[in-house]
Amino acid sequence: MDLYEYQGKQYIARFGVPVSPGEVADTVDDAVAAAERLGFPVAVKAQVQVGGRGKAGGVKLAADRAEAEANARSILGLDIKGHVVRRLWLERAAHIAKEYYASFTLDRSAKLHLCMLSTKGGVEIEQVAEEDPGAIARRHVDPLDGFSEADGLALAGEAGIEESERQGVADVLASLYRCFVEGDADLVEVNPLVVTASGTVLALDAKVTLDDSAGFRHPEWAEWANLDELDQRERLAREKGLQYVGLDGYVGIIANGAGLAMSTCDVVEQVGGEPANFLDIGGGASAEVMANALEVISTDEKVRSIFVNIFGGITRGEEVANGIVQALGRVEIHAPIVVRIDGTNAVEGRAILAAHESERLVSLPTMIEAARAATELAGGSPR
Ligand code: GDP
Ligand code: MN
Repeated sequence: MDLYEYQGKQYIARFGVPVSPGEVADTVDDAVAAAERLGFPVAVKAQVQVGGRGKAGGVKLAADRAEAEANARSILGLDIKGHVVRRLWLERAAHIAKEYYASFTLDRSAKLHLCMLSTKGGVEIEQVAEEDPGAIARRHVDPLDGFSEADGLALAGEAGIEESERQGVADVLASLYRCFVEGDADLVEVNPLVVTASGTVLALDAKVTLDDSAGFRHPEWAEWANLDELDQRERLAREKGLQYVGLDGYVGIIANGAGLAMSTCDVVEQVGGEPANFLDIGGGASAEVMANALEVISTDEKVRSIFVNIFGGITRGEEVANGIVQALGRVEIHAPIVVRIDGTNAVEGRAILAAHESERLVSLPTMIEAARAATELAGGSPR
């Protein structure tokens, strides 16, 4: 789960990272009132889950009430890379002397945590990584050892941070690491981490991704579950416990396992079709799960055919086939369905489907044939 900036800041602040006091506002009037309570100058910031808000006009400083009002008016409703601003965060503006970058994330290939620190903050870190990779100091952290103050001081030195500022930066890194581990985050990123004119180190922005698998340990996360960022199909899928990602094409896809679902998208593309979605129904393929998946896909008006691609492992082919047949009795599907079953008891599964075969339900033994059939039924011309 990705947090908005204001939620991320509240979260890292719990672990001791210094942030400015601020308030959220959803209307111009609320924004003006919040600005007056906070005192000027105040920063008015768009709350959308996308980077580069500053450049897009989503972050503005206001010196007085009139400017706060004008800023709130221009930012609310603004479309930033497809995200419409519905909420603002206002905070006391900081006097920035320097802008740094700091983050902790998981380096999956190294199987270790990774800390990155750079004096080139305030711009997109991907851009720094491309243009000046040497400007990012990196340190892998073994979770069994943790990240000590000494690690922070050493890294600050490597990053080229002035000696007088290193302790402040190391303190922030130690708190951020605690947030990353104890707070069960997959990413904590502060860009910019600023040094103010008076020498204080402060997190001016925060990007936090929480590890949903640890949700059971954090009942307090419930208030942040922001279903409003999802489209209607994704919300329905989430409610039904399915892994769904909407795409722009017209062949609906259902597969068991994320890897197979991705391959299915690739094969549909390969034969010249366009996937409408990625949908992983997980290990089982009961009638209920299959009915839910078909229902979610059917809410997408762009879908003109559905490709169900199942590889039987522990789940046997005849269970899957029965699941599909029963699901078709429960939900009304407007698009023709092409099924490919392989793996454990595939032959038995295909026999069950054969008994129900029609122009609305086709069973084919291989992925490529099924992808072509699904593309053709959708009105495309498969290769
Ligand atoms: P992003 O563009 O989406 O990453 O949004 P940020 O929160 O990082 O803000 C973009 C830029 O706005 C920062 O790099 C700062 O230069 C500037 N900014 C944000 N907050 C303040 C503030 O309180 N005071 C000042 N002077 N500048 C700010
Ligand atoms: Mn930023």
